[in-house]
Amino acid sequence: MTDPLSSPSPHLTPVHEEFRSSVRTFFRKEVVPYAAEWERRRAMPRSAWHAFAAEGLLGLNHPTSVGGAGLDFFHSVVFLEELGRTGFGGVRFAVALHAYMGTSYLATNGSAELQQRYLRPAVAGDLIAGLAITEPQAGSDLGRLEATAVEDGDHLVVDAEKRFVVNGGFADFFVTAVRTGPGRRRSSQGELTLLVVDRTAEGVHVRPNDSIAWRASAMADVSMRGVRVPRENVIGRRNSGFVQIMKNMQLERLAAGISAVGDAANCLDVTWRYLKSRAMFESTLSAKQAVRHKMADLLTEVEAVRLLAHHAAWSYARDPLSITACSMAKLKATEVARTVAEECRHLHGSEGFREGAPIVQTVHDAQAATVAAGASEVMRDIVVQSGYEELP
Ligand SMILES: Cc1cc2nc3c(=O)[nH]c(=O)nc-3n(C[C@H](O)[C@H](O)[C@H](O)COP(=O)(O)OP(=O)(O)OC[C@H]3O[C@@H](n4cnc5c(N)ncnc54)[C@H](O)[C@@H]3O)c2cc1C
Repeated sequence: MTDPLSSPSPHLTPVHEEFRSSVRTFFRKEVVPYAAEWERRRAMPRSAWHAFAAEGLLGLNHPTSVGGAGLDFFHSVVFLEELGRTGFGGVRFAVALHAYMGTSYLATNGSAELQQRYLRPAVAGDLIAGLAITEPQAGSDLGRLEATAVEDGDHLVVDAEKRFVVNGGFADFFVTAVRTGPGRRRSSQGELTLLVVDRTAEGVHVRPNDSIAWRASAMADVSMRGVRVPRENVIGRRNSGFVQIMKNMQLERLAAGISAVGDAANCLDVTWRYLKSRAMFESTLSAKQAVRHKMADLLTEVEAVRLLAHHAAWSYARDPLSITACSMAKLKATEVARTVAEECRHLHGSEGFREGAPIVQTVHDAQAATVAAGASEVMRDIVVQSGYEELP
């Protein structure tokens, strides 16, 4: 079957394709042989992070001043497609969150000192990032965040209950959002501040949350009780957290969308091999016209959404505030990947319902991607608002 990730794209040059082949070799040698075990154990070992870092893969998009590669964004597109292509959802999100979500706040708004203390070691794989925004009563609606930080001399004292933190089980630091306005009122977006909290700080407690999705990312709930955080750990200006989240969200959504394309391509690949191996009446499942048409439809969806994701990446590279393009790419790519996973599960017959079967995990992982980093309904709200509401 055609490999959707090998199709020509107007945005990719021979340099990107050469990079793809080196990334594929890296995944084949350093990730694929071990990743099933990482998913089973719900953790990626430090040696794996160092292997990614040694290839420069944790800092493709970060500046050379912190050890990053500072490459054009389509190197990241290729990397994220291939990361999704491994088929290991936990590894995909652990690495994507670290390289494109948690650390991006430090890259865009962190002081030079914060960048040297946290971003440089993160690019080197010595420190792992977590992003702790969601709370029990605040997911889609960030206006409901309740975490607070109160000034005390040259420190801020943080009280927070954070949920669903990717890399939570092994992250060394958390980029988190707290209220710092005078009244610390709920629903005021202007009072949010972002800061870095060390995992080892007194008052930080991490509990695994046993998510059925993205297992190797060691998702956890994190509570912070009376945690003293130095003022220098504030990212950007105080009370600018909401604006920073809105800006960085575009990269987060784009990374989720692009890696979903790779995930869907892998799912089709695995399923096609299964269909070819499954003897059925006088031939194999892959020879049945109904099955072939189903696979053709899914392949066409993946090709189409890949071009949408590339277009969004191109828009993002020109303007990091390409909210509509990034939201469309996140919405459509994660929804297509979910549909592909569900249809492919169906084609696996009863094997698609055996606990521990890879296709079952793929369905969980693909479904979770339609919720994390902004649920599909939230993406639709953004798209309709930017697409129609300004019309008379
Ligand atoms: C696998 C996974 C990983 C995650 N990783 C992180 C992380 O690393 N850090 C972090 O801070 N958070 C993380 N999250 C949390 C994630 O950001 C939230 O789950 C997401 O924002 C949705 O919030 P919620 O779960 O509270 O759902 P809610 O906000 O309660 O929404 C529930 C459902 O309601 C629907 N809905 C929501 N808004 C609307 C609307 N406007 N109109 C109509 N329907 C709507 C959607 O179907 C949604 O799924 C993760 C979540 C998942 C599933």
